[in-house]
Amino acid sequence: MNTEGYYGTFGGTFIPEILYPAISELKKHFEQIQSDPGFWNRYNEILGNFSGRPTPLTFAAGLTEYFGHGKIYIKREDLNHSGAHKINNALGQALLAKQMKKTRVIAETGAGQHGVATAIVAAKLGLDATIYMGREDMERQYANVFWMKRYGAQVVPVDFGSRTLKDAINEALRDWVSSFETTHYLMGTASGPHPFPALVAYFQSIIGKEAKEQILELEGSLPSRVYACVGGGSNALGMFQEFMNHTEVELVGVEAGGRGPEQGAHASRIAYGQGKIGIAQGYKTLFLQNDEGQMLDTFSIAAGLDYTGISPILANLSETRKVRIEAVTDEEVIEALKLVMTKEGLVPALESTHAFAGAFREMSSNAAKDSIIINMSGRGDKDIFNIAEGLKDDEWTAFIGRKQAQYERAR
Ligand SMILES: *Cc1c(COP(=O)(O)O)cnc(C)c1O
Repeated sequence: MNTEGYYGTFGGTFIPEILYPAISELKKHFEQIQSDPGFWNRYNEILGNFSGRPTPLTFAAGLTEYFGHGKIYIKREDLNHSGAHKINNALGQALLAKQMKKTRVIAETGAGQHGVATAIVAAKLGLDATIYMGREDMERQYANVFWMKRYGAQVVPVDFGSRTLKDAINEALRDWVSSFETTHYLMGTASGPHPFPALVAYFQSIIGKEAKEQILELEGSLPSRVYACVGGGSNALGMFQEFMNHTEVELVGVEAGGRGPEQGAHASRIAYGQGKIGIAQGYKTLFLQNDEGQMLDTFSIAAGLDYTGISPILANLSETRKVRIEAVTDEEVIEALKLVMTKEGLVPALESTHAFAGAFREMSSNAAKDSIIINMSGRGDKDIFNIAEGLKDDEWTAFIGRKQAQYERAR
């Protein structure tokens, strides 16, 4: 068996034969840039003056005092341009697309965050961009559709299937089959056919590289634990890779436990033990699927964690016990969010709040001399509607009601 692109039993390249030239061209250029310090320097430089990197590692004094079990540090990916880690990957792949002499990028997006990051880097680097998005998702996440269009991207609604992310992935792949001579498929997370998982993890590794340097500078020692939320797995891998060879650092990925372990009520593939090995969307991993291989519905308060698959790299790291995977419920997330906002004056994205909730749950097992790092993958301003609902904020509900009435009258 060809083991290239496999992580244990997970990964691989399951694509229509017609895409082989596109994938081999991508593999060749990915290898080249990895041994070209000039490429990484250019990437780092643009992230520096365009996206504000390096992002700080903030000492969470309020939370540290509140729990009284070791020091808490927060890696501030929310301070990136566009408010999350996704731009690290989007920019890296857009630069790679330029290197491959492509003039256009395509992408799929679910909640719309990856679509916005792609539209931004396309505008910045002068590439055309087409974003595929399920019609259902477009309606749920209209603000992101609005921004993608304003940045000059074309947003194509997908009316097939359940009109959500997996249908958008299929449409984007269909586009790529007929356009790869001019077009790069800009994958949003560390999943999909090889080499995408490795490629996305590579560009996100900047998070952990910075964090390790920063904690060594601040503490003079490595953290005892590092936490990150896990949707597809890109921010978690970005944070974890650099600590992987330090076995004294425990790496904890936190999945979306939604309303609890009942089937269809969450997006936890590993912690709840419900993901089954399968092949879809070009790769083999643990998917939430029924016995016939149909993808199950997922549920989470955080749109960005609401995904049936998981990075093959993370599936393997979990199986080999290098990463521990936990799940927290929406309720725990709302409680954690209240705490972070009032003790730190920070508003993490609902996705990122999963990492906080996972850490808070086990704070009492840290020694006083320990330090931990929580990856704050993004900022929560975008989640205002869901946060208000989760916090049961009546005044906000009344405000939205008034706006809605105004809008109805104006129509
Ligand atoms: C998209 C997103 C995630 C989930 O994606 P990963 O690939 O698992 O990192 C997490 N946090 C934020 C803020 C996001 O926008």
